[in-house]
Amino acid sequence: MHSAPHLRPPSIDRVLNWSAVVPLIAEYGREPVLAGTRRVLDHAREAARGGAPVDYTEAALAFELAAHLAERHAPRLKPVFNLTGTVLHTNLGRATLPDAAVDALVKAARSPCALEYDLASGGRGDRDDVVEGVLCELTGAEAATVVNNNAAAVFLLLNTLAMRKQVIVSRGELVEIGGAFRVPDIMSRAGAKLVEVGTTNRTHLRDFADAIHPRSALLMKVHTSNYAIQGFTASVPEAELAALAHASGLPFVVDLGSGTLTDLARFGLPREPTPQDSITAGADLVSFSGDKLLGGPQAGILVGSRELIRRIKKNPLKRALRVGKLTLAALEAVLHLYRDPDRLPERLTALRLLTRPQTNIHDQALRLLPTMQQALAGWPVGVTVEPALSQIGSGSLPVDRLESWALVVKPATRRTGVLHDIEAALRGLPQPVIGRIADGALRLDLRCLDDEAGFRAQLAGLAAA
Ligand SMILES: *Cc1c(COP(=O)(O)O)cnc(C)c1O
Repeated sequence: MHSAPHLRPPSIDRVLNWSAVVPLIAEYGREPVLAGTRRVLDHAREAARGGAPVDYTEAALAFELAAHLAERHAPRLKPVFNLTGTVLHTNLGRATLPDAAVDALVKAARSPCALEYDLASGGRGDRDDVVEGVLCELTGAEAATVVNNNAAAVFLLLNTLAMRKQVIVSRGELVEIGGAFRVPDIMSRAGAKLVEVGTTNRTHLRDFADAIHPRSALLMKVHTSNYAIQGFTASVPEAELAALAHASGLPFVVDLGSGTLTDLARFGLPREPTPQDSITAGADLVSFSGDKLLGGPQAGILVGSRELIRRIKKNPLKRALRVGKLTLAALEAVLHLYRDPDRLPERLTALRLLTRPQTNIHDQALRLLPTMQQALAGWPVGVTVEPALSQIGSGSLPVDRLESWALVVKPATRRTGVLHDIEAALRGLPQPVIGRIADGALRLDLRCLDDEAGFRAQLAGLAAA
């Protein structure tokens, strides 16, 4: 029996010679196209067995093959538009690096570099030397070291200084940060015994004094990054804790969480404690993140006394938690920007976004409104420009909000499910647009929208689809 050619599956060899498939081999290579062809043909046969009409023509199969290959070869780590209103969004990669840092890390990636090599003597160097000088200069500390992230920094300092010993912390500071980092858990994993003092809302100096014991290793203060206790509260100033610790021969350490190296108040932002504040108050060690308010790459930074940093660097776990050259290259470039605080808001991307003038965001929202309305013309919704409140994110300044502007999509009918459909469609774009559904509307906070042309192009794709 004879059936039309488009009703019978072609041989794989024939598919590979089709003129629509040859360019795919040039682009993706023979092996992936062969595997893709098998898959597309298997799917087609399966569909045919299920009784579905199947089109085996060159045009139809090559189209499916191209789509399959494009999907498989697209990076999983996709760039997205962060229109959530959270500037340092942990799930979206926190701080966006400034150009200076991107250039530095590309250079370090492309070429051998003097990572652990002392160019003066020709001998072996220490990778921390890349940033230790500038960190000491900016924080007033004697020494510094860098590890994978702040959780690693806290873990390493506890494991080095407090294994099988006691660490005294206020009960109000036993925080959980982003689900996976809980101060009590990290402490027990590091081998330290937690001694909680005070109450949730109030802790006094005498609570710490009463807890000091021959097995005490250190006094610790944890910045309660992601929540605020209000009302009848008391905590002990760092200078008093430092003095108490030192009178008993113990170190005083601070986990600052988000660490900016400059006073944010000078840029009109809420004030956030800095490592230099803690060092001045007498802290022996301060730990903070590289990719929160600092605006750099993911890293955990420890600054403090020469002797304690020396001990930490000798811990074999330092080797397991160290950073690579890409991180150090980016971090060095970001730290250098802090030497010139006046130009920091122009040059440090995270700070530029945090200090973006409201009028500027509003103008952008008005410019984009018609494009957005056009892109959503087929949906039963209305789009407006409304004020919004951005947050800093990553546990920094949890109660403070920054006034901003958003494109707001509201259902025109009582079918509110449409918002979820649009939210999903935006997420499905080649460069996904991530917004937030709240209070019966889909909100796209424009504070972090740098690439306006790229965003317009995505919206055009949405309208077409
Ligand atoms: C964010 C934070 C951490 C964890 O820092 P990562 O860099 O995310 O590992 C630890 N402690 C505090 C107080 C924090 O705010």
